[in-house]
Amino acid sequence: MEREYMNLPVVRKLAEKEQVGWRNPKKLSWEESKGILPVTASEVEDAKARLARFAPFIQKCFPETKESGGVIESELVPIEKMKELLNQEFGGTIEGTLLLKKDSHLAVAGSVKARGGIYEVLKHTEDLALEAGLITVEDDYSKLASDECRKYFSQYTIQVGSTGNLGLSIGIASAAVGYRVVVHMSADARQWKKDLLRSHGVTVIEYESDYSEAVKQGRKESDADPKSYFVDDENSKNLFLGYAVAAGRLKDQLTEQGICIDEEHPLFLYIPCGVGGAPGGVTYGAKEIWGDNVHVFFVEPVEAPCMILGMATGLHHEISVQEIGLTGQTHADGLAVGRPSGFVGKVMDPILSGEFTVHDKWLYEYMRALIKSENIFIEPSSCAAFEGPLKLNQYEETRGYLQEHGLLEKLPNAVHIAWATGGRLVPEEIRREYQNTYLEE
Ligand SMILES: *Cc1c(COP(=O)(O)O)cnc(C)c1O
Repeated sequence: MEREYMNLPVVRKLAEKEQVGWRNPKKLSWEESKGILPVTASEVEDAKARLARFAPFIQKCFPETKESGGVIESELVPIEKMKELLNQEFGGTIEGTLLLKKDSHLAVAGSVKARGGIYEVLKHTEDLALEAGLITVEDDYSKLASDECRKYFSQYTIQVGSTGNLGLSIGIASAAVGYRVVVHMSADARQWKKDLLRSHGVTVIEYESDYSEAVKQGRKESDADPKSYFVDDENSKNLFLGYAVAAGRLKDQLTEQGICIDEEHPLFLYIPCGVGGAPGGVTYGAKEIWGDNVHVFFVEPVEAPCMILGMATGLHHEISVQEIGLTGQTHADGLAVGRPSGFVGKVMDPILSGEFTVHDKWLYEYMRALIKSENIFIEPSSCAAFEGPLKLNQYEETRGYLQEHGLLEKLPNAVHIAWATGGRLVPEEIRREYQNTYLEE
């Protein structure tokens, strides 16, 4: 009976590094799902309110957020020329509107991690500050940026395991609050990210091993120190809630742009997935708002499809991509994850529509296409998102999904959002290196 999951067609394809379009067989309607999820609307509201309380503090610590009043939010922009290019040169038949959610350009961390990562650091900071009587929830939180408070926080340590971007987000945010910070980085983390963190006074510990091992070591070191807090990307609900706040903001942006989402105008989100926290949080938030009118698909690299593997086998974090013979190594920074979050996959079971996997080669091709058509740079891992709209009606499985939900005839009215998850902080010389990277499939 061992390794029975190898009989699943999707697992066989994953093991062969074939690109797949997968439809989640466990998906339920929103009506059936909402009562059984371990997350609630009021928890997302609570996270939103906390971020609002911290806005004066964020504004003070990060002058780049002054214009937005301490709100860290990204633009939503139409990319009509990219849509045309995908249709003309990449064999797409995308109908409707294609938009880019530019979390790639978020303030502070330059990636989607500016949502979850910073939220979790702030949540912990509020817990400590309330306990120590430094503030009350009615106070102006900019007070927390005072020398006295910084000195108080400097006795505490924040630790995190990361492939790069989460480390950047937690590291920069924690250093701004005044914590001692230790980031445990896996072997695939880029040198410039380590350098940038060190320039913020962050201690970076490098491992020869992959992300899961870096997390394990980080957790161990942190647990041994009572004044240390570990940001646990593999299990954290706080991270998840920080990401979930994105959906309400997206709703406002769509409304401002006069874009209506309803039964006749379905919304499709395509989000690159690593351990699952960021795309999972956004998905939950979106389902709460649009219910059955939003359809969310994750995209993962062919060498690291940990979320599909966990969900399709039902084993979640109990299986790693290495167990089906994959390396877990990819050019897609932030997506080189071999084992999914134990928390997120189970939340996704009833609400995620499906997934795509993509070969690294295409990440660079889509990146160049976006520069050429729209003059927007996002990092290659973010470009995984384009695989979604491009292939949605091309794989038998995802086409079947569209058919069954009566969506095929609604595609001319569809709103597709490719979620750009990172890029702003990528140094110029690395951008040039990316521009000149051509891979074989
Ligand atoms: C972290 C990251 C993701 C995915 O987030 P997870 O929470 O790990 O699933 C996607 N894209 C980029 C650029 C990232 O850094």
